[in-house]
Amino acid sequence: MKTLEETVAHLRDVDALFGVDFSGLTSDELEMVLVTAEAAIARLRLLQTVALRSAEDRQIPAADGCKTLAEWTAGRLDVSINTARTLALLTRSEVVADDGDSIDRVEATTRLAASGAPNADIEFSRSCDIAGVGRLRRHRERVSPTDEQAAHDGRYLVFQPTLDDGTWRIHGRLAGCDGKLVEKVLTDWADTFGAHPDGHRDTRRQRMADALTAICADNNDTEGGDGPGTLVTVHVDASQAGPSRGEAGVWVEAGPRVGVQTLEEILCTGIAEVIAHTEDGTAMTYGRRSRVVPAALRRAVLHRDGQVCTSDGCTSRYRLQPHHMTPYAEGGHTDPDNLTTLCWFHHHVVIHGRGMGIDRNSPPLRRRFRPPRNRPPPDTE
Ligand SMILES: [Zn+2]
Repeated sequence: MKTLEETVAHLRDVDALFGVDFSGLTSDELEMVLVTAEAAIARLRLLQTVALRSAEDRQIPAADGCKTLAEWTAGRLDVSINTARTLALLTRSEVVADDGDSIDRVEATTRLAASGAPNADIEFSRSCDIAGVGRLRRHRERVSPTDEQAAHDGRYLVFQPTLDDGTWRIHGRLAGCDGKLVEKVLTDWADTFGAHPDGHRDTRRQRMADALTAICADNNDTEGGDGPGTLVTVHVDASQAGPSRGEAGVWVEAGPRVGVQTLEEILCTGIAEVIAHTEDGTAMTYGRRSRVVPAALRRAVLHRDGQVCTSDGCTSRYRLQPHHMTPYAEGGHTDPDNLTTLCWFHHHVVIHGRGMGIDRNSPPLRRRFRPPRNRPPPDTE
């Protein structure tokens, strides 16, 4: 591809053609003008794809709240969604365009390559007209019953905890329509999660991860959607947990390693039993297996707050949960004065995910957030 300067210089040549008296041109010259203009259009489109690739790398479309690069492009360039989709396709293209290829040929070759055509077919396609390139692609894209069976048999989903159990990797393969369904539902869900209190918005991929968690949480409910149904057994080794303010010495039975923020979330929403350990490691006391916020108190707090998230400006009623404004671990009590109603996004993502806190001086139904507290390191106690 030509450099930007070369492209601009070439455009000047095209500009010069605007002054030409077309009636004085021979038919060959007239044809040359048409070909030169088409080549200039192709170069400019390719220039746009380089700029779009940069915009996508910097996640500008996602930051502007657009689901796809095509949607963002259509809005910014005032072009049809079809033109925008073609530009997005070319942006991700691995096809190297020959000098003088029209934009339609680059598009047809890109679609052929995307169908999995071998290099020999792509080479051969250069001798075809554009309709011929399309026919080559449609021939390749035929799906036989054997292909469908292979796609079905090849489906799998794997969950891999990292070695320290701190995070999970999920990967797998779904057959065509199933993959599209999962993508569509997660994308639509991701759209419902708004911006953080500081205006920052998670990337679409991060929001899709939240969407997957939310959907699974919805299916894990007991008591008619009253909260998570999983019993969590939390072990606390007081000799370690105390000095480290909960950064060590707290673990969930047969579960992933968790930190203070997750523990606080469990204490806000979960049914938990807490087992304390003595210095020699024997289990000493057993907490009651109970919802940390009793169902009656939970209902009372949600009723008091009007069954809506109390975060300033939020109108969500999705998975409302009472939150301990002064954390349980810091001595906050489970009583109405210390509880405020938050939607799942503000509770799970903003508070317990990013570590934000509630500004207790903010009005009860228009709660503002404060940045995460920097916990002092244990040895400065
Ligand atoms: Zn909210």
